[in-house]
Formats: sequence, structure tokens, C-alpha cells
Amino acid sequence: MQYKAFIGIGSNLGIPAENCEQAIRLLHTPPGIEVIARSSLYESEPVGKIEQDWFVNTAVAIRTSLTPEALLNALFKIEKTLGRERREKWGPRIIDLDILAYEDRVIHTTALTLPHPEMTKRRFVLLPLSEFAGDYMHPVENKTIHTLLQELPESPQVKKVLSTS
Ligand code: ADP
Ligand code: MG
Repeated sequence: MQYKAFIGIGSNLGIPAENCEQAIRLLHTPPGIEVIARSSLYESEPVGKIEQDWFVNTAVAIRTSLTPEALLNALFKIEKTLGRERREKWGPRIIDLDILAYEDRVIHTTALTLPHPEMTKRRFVLLPLSEFAGDYMHPVENKTIHTLLQELPESPQVKKVLSTS
């Protein structure tokens, strides 16, 4: 069976746009994952207390034969390949790959929460996602990505990256 899932990608260390592009390339490599859509790159103001550089964020849609848990492990491997070290939550990171949603599954375990618990509050997640999944119905909120996006305030700022050269 093939299942559809959405992955959120973010980076604010090194060359963030390049790290995001590299993460998308690596998402094509594990068996059982096929990238079927991707969004533009966005620059976003950091949220939380820590003083740090702006992030680059993007999102992809995949088709996968992996279970949500196996998919999360595949994402951890890609993070490791790109040199991620796990330090403080919310802190700077070379790459962050999150499962935003997996079909309409609702999961609450210590390792995995689906849909991603912060996605409804984050413009830097909903905006890229809206490029290809605007009509996706959030299985807990019962609202589409478009509607959730409209309900969010304009700040913190999220801007489309016009050129990635
Ligand atoms: P952040 O919350 O900033 O993404 P991390 O990437 O360090 O922080 O992730 C912390 C933990 O969040 C991971 O160890 C993972 O088990 C857990 N987690 C829970 N739900 C998800 C999800 N939907 N996608 C990715 N990680 C998740
Ligand atoms: Mg993460």
C-alpha cells in the first residue's frame, strides 16, 4: 500500500537554502519514499526566545509504503547524514525534518504526534504546504490548510525566497 504524507523541512545554519535542497534530494533515496510535490523556499523569522538567524523552510508531499514510525526513522537518518546534532529544542539547526501529516492519522505516542502538534500555529509550515495541499483537511481541527492559514496572524514574518542562487 502507498500512503500520502507531508514533510516539513527547515534550516538556519550553514547555507540554509542549500541544506533544504539537499534534504529534498536525500528524500528521493530511501526505498519506500517517493517525492510527489514540493513547495518554494520561504524565509521565516525565528520563533521562541533564542536569538538566532532566520530560517529557510519548505515542504514536500510524498507517497510512501513506510509506516509513520519507519518514516520518522528515515527522516532521522537524513538529518544525521546532513550533520544534525540534537541540542536544545527551538535552537539553531542545520536541518529539521518533521512529519506534518500522514493520511488522516491521529497519533499520540512519546516518539510521534500526528498531525504535527505545532503545524496549525506556524505560518512557515502552512504557507509552503498550501502550495500543494491547500485542500487537505486537518483531521483534528476539521479545517483545511487554506482556512488554518487565513486564521493565523501575519507575524512572525514569512517571505517567499525569490532566488536561491
Ligand atoms: P522539533 O520539535 O523542533 O522538530 P526535534 O526535531 O529535535 O525538535 O524533534 C524532537 C522529537 O520530536 C523527536 O525526537 C521526535 O520523536 C518527536 N516528534 C513527535 N512528533 C513528530 C513529528 N510529527 N515529526 C517529527 N518528529 C516528531
Ligand atoms: Mg523535528
